[in-house]
Amino acid sequence: MCIFCKIINNEIPSKKVYEDDDVVAILDISQAGYGHTLVMPKKHYENILEIPDNEYSKVMSAVKKLSEKINKNVKPDGINVINNTNEAAGQTVMHYHVHIIPRFKDDDIRFITPDHQNKYDLDEVLKKVCE
Ligand code: 5GP
Ligand code: ZN
Repeated sequence: MCIFCKIINNEIPSKKVYEDDDVVAILDISQAGYGHTLVMPKKHYENILEIPDNEYSKVMSAVKKLSEKINKNVKPDGINVINNTNEAAGQTVMHYHVHIIPRFKDDDIRFITPDHQNKYDLDEVLKKVCE
């Protein structure tokens, strides 16, 4: 059983922010930003490619509600909503989850998205993505 399934089953302690029949949200142990929260389905799906649409909708609905709640109570300057799919994208726990990361001016979080506009032909990329 994966670590998040154990948390969901209360076999490992966690700080639960929210729970309903299908979804659980816990404080991320790393707290990249104050209030950093993980939202996940109770059922085990490895990633966004595996989770069925109806379960995905429930998770994302909770992500929106919790983003609003965190925004109201924590009052960050911004919020990142992030999902990592597979190891190459930084996924370390193979149970689908969405990060809500409150952001603050001058915090120490950096996401590097290089500018490769000269490297790729947008028409070729569009054809590939839509094929
Ligand atoms: P990923 O890299 O898979 O997108 O994110 C996994 C996240 O789970 C990390 O941010 C990590 O801090 C968090 N995490 C890993 N193990 C535990 C745990 O036992 N409890 C909690 N609350 N968070 C965990
Ligand atoms: Zn699991």
